[in-house]
Amino acid sequence: MFHSIKAKVITIFSLVMIAFTSVLLLTIFINERDRVLDLALENSTKISKMHANLLSQEFARYVVMLKMLSNNPNTKLGDKPTIARQLKRLMTMGRGNFINAIYVDKNLNLTDVLGNTNKVTHPSFMRAEQWVGKQYNISVPVITRFEKTPVIMVGVPILDTQNNWMGTLAVAVPLTIISAKLAEIKLAKESYAWLTDSNGLMVSHPNKSFIMKNKLSMTENADYPGFYKIVRQTKLQNDGYGRYMDATLNESKIVTFSKVDYLPGWTLFVTTKESEIFHDIYTIMYDVLVTSIILMVIFLLLISELSNRITKPIVQLTKDVKASVKDKKSYLKIIDSDDEIGQLSKAFHDSLQKIHSHTTHLEQMVNHRTQEITDKNLLLNQQNEKLEQLASKDPLTLLYNRRAFSALVDKEISRAKRHHFPITLVILDIDHFKKINDEFGHNVGDDILCRFADELSLNMRKENLICRWGGEEFVILIPEATSTMVFKHIEEVRQKISQMSFSPVEKLTFSAGIATLRVEEPFKEWFQRADSALYQAKGAGRNCIITD
Ligand code: GH3
Ligand code: MG
Ligand code: MG
Repeated sequence: MFHSIKAKVITIFSLVMIAFTSVLLLTIFINERDRVLDLALENSTKISKMHANLLSQEFARYVVMLKMLSNNPNTKLGDKPTIARQLKRLMTMGRGNFINAIYVDKNLNLTDVLGNTNKVTHPSFMRAEQWVGKQYNISVPVITRFEKTPVIMVGVPILDTQNNWMGTLAVAVPLTIISAKLAEIKLAKESYAWLTDSNGLMVSHPNKSFIMKNKLSMTENADYPGFYKIVRQTKLQNDGYGRYMDATLNESKIVTFSKVDYLPGWTLFVTTKESEIFHDIYTIMYDVLVTSIILMVIFLLLISELSNRITKPIVQLTKDVKASVKDKKSYLKIIDSDDEIGQLSKAFHDSLQKIHSHTTHLEQMVNHRTQEITDKNLLLNQQNEKLEQLASKDPLTLLYNRRAFSALVDKEISRAKRHHFPITLVILDIDHFKKINDEFGHNVGDDILCRFADELSLNMRKENLICRWGGEEFVILIPEATSTMVFKHIEEVRQKISQMSFSPVEKLTFSAGIATLRVEEPFKEWFQRADSALYQAKGAGRNCIITD
């Protein structure tokens, strides 16, 4: 499966796509992270600045209201009914932002809108000397006996024509109002705004328990590692940002800050979870990943289809070529196409035809040569047989020659020994043959030899080996027979031949010696014994047989 072109193409494509997507995601992450962080910081800084301004304007408005009333001549004269009306008017003008309005005369006698009176003992901003060179005064949050909740006192001096301090007109703005105003700020998700006063005390915070309790610190705080650096910045800059750890939540946070112009020393902070800022990048990366996967699947299907179209004819061509080779066909279905595959199939077709014609020619040649070899082998076998015969037979008498006899004798001796039967040797010699030659010529001698050999063969059994030992001397090997048995038979032959006519020879006789093989006797000795017997027969006057 993996060896197919299609599988290779799809694997390479998948690897390239995976590498491409990974690089894309990494690039997005590296590039976008800083950009998104910058953007988030910029936004957050803008928001904190804007709201610090709004807060400033809010207090500026309060001051304008107070100033307007403090400039009233009746107020300056300390006219009680006028002042009572003024205080009520202030409350109306505040549209619920004030919980109290206060008048302090130059003897530090305090009257509020509710009619409470008191002698001012509070050290802050109510005395004449504290107003020197000041248009207004805004206090840090205080808890007074009348309001019973933390309030910010916003006050302006009442001055006579010589600019002498005649008293103070003030309103009490509850912290809840400030918190409500900050809560109105539209912020990014997981962001919140909070405010500290000139003492660094938290005036507003989404976590109510921090308000009026927690204070900014210039030294490291274990709960918020790194925050002290931002606090130091707030002392030096009007706005800025920093990063710190919220150890209680185990979360990294980004904070931007901005000074509130109208409230000297007051700082507005906007805190955002760092993970929330990067949340957008993760969303983008997730979208890119999903899009990549969808595109990859679509491309995979397309590539699969495309490679199918390309490889299908190749697969078909391969099958056809294999089938043609297997079935030894001389033709191939040519793919009708102008492209490389069409050309390839045409080339295969031509090659197959050439191969087929070469093969046919070769087969014919091989068949022809095989037939020739078969014929020649037959002839050779026949000639070998003839040669074998020529080599083993005496050409004149067609009896075994001495060479063939020697070879056969060894076999017969082994057989006799194995089966424990007797084996007897006869040596025959025609008497006075020389005379025949002398008298009738050599050709007659040959003829007599042939006829003698034939007669000998006729009178012997098939299994007896008859050999022309040389000249007119013959040797006969008779298996499974004793000397006595052989003597009897040879004697019969001798008598028969001696009475036969071998024209033109009147009478033909032979002498013979007989010997039976003794145990463990070598052929040479055995032969010698038979030969000696023959010699004795010659000596005894010929035409007789002697047994050793
Ligand atoms: P004996 O009774 O003692 O055997 O006398 P012989 O004459 O038969 O024996 P000898 O050994 O003196 O002579 C054998 C002769 O046989 C001599 C040779 O001319 C003749 N002879 C041997 N081989 C052939 C042959 O192939 N053809 C013919 N025509 N004569 C042969
Ligand atoms: Mg002889
Ligand atoms: Mg002889």
